[in-house]
Amino acid sequence: MLLKVHSCGVCRTDLHIVEGELTEPKLPLILGHQIVGTVVELGPKASESTDALPETDAPRVEPGVRVGVPWLGWTDGTCPYCLSGRENLCDQARFTGYDIGGGYAEYAVADARYCFPIPEGYPDLQAAPLLCAGLIGYRALRLAGDGRRLGIYGFGAAAHILVQVARHQGRTTYAFTRPGDDEGQRFALRMGAHWAGGSLDVPPEPLDAAIILAPVGDLVPQALRQVAKGGVVVCGGIHMSDIPSFPYQILWEERMVRSVANLTRKDGHEFLRLAPQIPVGTRVRAFPLEEANEALDELRAGRIEGAAVLMVDEEATSAWATSGRGPWSPGGR
Ligand SMILES: [Zn+2]
Ligand SMILES: [Zn+2]
Repeated sequence: MLLKVHSCGVCRTDLHIVEGELTEPKLPLILGHQIVGTVVELGPKASESTDALPETDAPRVEPGVRVGVPWLGWTDGTCPYCLSGRENLCDQARFTGYDIGGGYAEYAVADARYCFPIPEGYPDLQAAPLLCAGLIGYRALRLAGDGRRLGIYGFGAAAHILVQVARHQGRTTYAFTRPGDDEGQRFALRMGAHWAGGSLDVPPEPLDAAIILAPVGDLVPQALRQVAKGGVVVCGGIHMSDIPSFPYQILWEERMVRSVANLTRKDGHEFLRLAPQIPVGTRVRAFPLEEANEALDELRAGRIEGAAVLMVDEEATSAWATSGRGPWSPGGR
């Protein structure tokens, strides 16, 4: 489908690509894998390809429909991973804004089968962060198990959504920021965390699980030390600095360390159905498309509270905005 891009979220993965930490991008490349846009034109096989999909809430593919494009842009459907419900691990997967041109642009082309409908009531800017920050956070939360006491290391775009989902599920959440980041800790508390502290702090009770969303390998042993017997540490990022060696004793007693990679379409449909029910609000800072580099700089410097989003088509975006506080507005409850 040819899409007119309204907005596109800025993700830490975009920074890892720009800085060469992810080493195999298609070049030249247009970044951006949290695209909100409307369908302009269909390719010859677009509607027949989505008719064949089992998901009932795949978006209608017709001009004018608003859709979201996530990181997972294409899979082969035939490898052992795809055939066992793990298309996030597909051997041949192609990713938006990495192997496929992304959404830091006025137009983008996407495979209709991998797009999502945007939940109603979410304006373009507020919807964009749901498409990666939200989805990856949701998958990480699922892999963290059902434990009540959840630690979140790194309080950025993914965490500010994740904390709302975890709270909705009745969990107690502990947010860890860079030591001394009082502003970040206040933000975490405002978004619903029960406790906030620095990454070296000891939470008031041991954790059943910790999700690490900052690309800092040192956090792995730090989180492991706070996790109770049988607990899990989930690394949510696509890139992380080296993990320092640590004593076996902190892994002993069935503690686990694991990563979370990409997303499946099932994750996406589940999360986008859930988000408006909670309702998940997103805090966004908008940048015009021509300031994409400034948005990346601000993200690198840790100066974004919530998520950075490129406002590509201001006119379309304001047409989709709803007045007053919607479910998308944090603190609007
Ligand atoms: Zn992302
Ligand atoms: Zn596959």
